[in-house]
Amino acid sequence: MMHTSGFATRAIHSGYDPESEQGALCPPLHLTSTFTAPTADEMGARFAGEVDGHFYSRISNPTLDLLERRMSALEGTEAALATASGMGAITATLWSLLKPGDEILVDRTLYGCTFAFLRHGLSRFGIKVRTVDMTNSDRLIESVNDSTKVVYFETPANPNMRLVDIASVSKLAHVHGAKVIVDNTYATPFLTRPVSLGADLVIHSATKYLGGHGDLVAGIVAGRTELIEQIRLYGLKDMTGAVMSPFTAMLVLRGLKTLDLRMQRHCSNAAAVAAFLKQQDQIADVYYPGLQDFPQHMLAKRQMDDFGGMIAFEMTGGLQAGKKLIDSLQMIHCAVSLGDAETLIQHPASMTHSTYEPEERVEHGIPDGLIRLSVGLETISDILDDLDRALRMV
Ligand SMILES: *Cc1c(COP(=O)(O)O)cnc(C)c1O
Repeated sequence: MMHTSGFATRAIHSGYDPESEQGALCPPLHLTSTFTAPTADEMGARFAGEVDGHFYSRISNPTLDLLERRMSALEGTEAALATASGMGAITATLWSLLKPGDEILVDRTLYGCTFAFLRHGLSRFGIKVRTVDMTNSDRLIESVNDSTKVVYFETPANPNMRLVDIASVSKLAHVHGAKVIVDNTYATPFLTRPVSLGADLVIHSATKYLGGHGDLVAGIVAGRTELIEQIRLYGLKDMTGAVMSPFTAMLVLRGLKTLDLRMQRHCSNAAAVAAFLKQQDQIADVYYPGLQDFPQHMLAKRQMDDFGGMIAFEMTGGLQAGKKLIDSLQMIHCAVSLGDAETLIQHPASMTHSTYEPEERVEHGIPDGLIRLSVGLETISDILDDLDRALRMV
């Protein structure tokens, strides 16, 4: 029933019946590492997967189960898996799907630690990592071949906002039997449901919009049951151990209840900020998918239900002007992370994306002068006033 309800309804109700918990409106928090069984045979059967039932919280826990059901209801997937962080989701997934000799094709622009994992993790263990600009369909067609096992990208990409066309990349990848993984952290399922567009797996840093309050670190993977169980039993249970704590799951569940409301405000605030920045002489370029002249505005309209809360921009005065702007802001804090109630600003080249070598950044679409703004939930006039005041000081 819940899969057909509206998004906000699913974010609040799906996967939970208070009657099963003595009428408790809010689901209980299962702070337990292990579970008892009435007999040795019963416990053995749970370990063998012959009967359902929890036995140890690195494999499953009722609070995590509920979060997983709720996330799969929001992403429209059969199953989901909760992990200790977004990086836990990425590493557990890729370690499960790839082996030495396999090839992964990734987009040109990736979150800094994802890029670092490909270099320091997968590449060191004999997995071939190839990079292509996935916004260029000709280059992409040349790059996918039968040795490509996984195609991996973010859309919109952190930090430069480039979009990748999920439906067309998935179609092409599937011709060659590759699995498509989309990091949907920026868009959230409120704006984009990659699996409905053809992707195999969706990954989230739930630290960001899903949690939404800047008080936790968490990750999610969603997709078909067969893939999710493979990631749970190998990547998560054996290889990374990157398990989410039940307490964190409870906080993410609480955050999800307002995801719909929060995303609406993030989107409307960001649209206003993008329009404001666009008019300023001190700003050379504004990258926001909702702007009419954003190069992929048409794709954004097709693939996203609104344009999100993230903006990137470059100052006319380059990096120094950007740093001066950051230092002159009063309400808006300089901090990494994103998707919080607070508006946050940061400089990718020296912060979130400093994992790239300086000479690599331009090639990967991360110019030194780029500034990233996560537009929060404050009163819009206060956000604009703070930016306006600081811009005058640049
Ligand atoms: C933050 C982020 C990650 C990593 O998530 P953590 O929860 O910090 O481990 C991965 N992808 C994107 C796009 C991110 O913004």
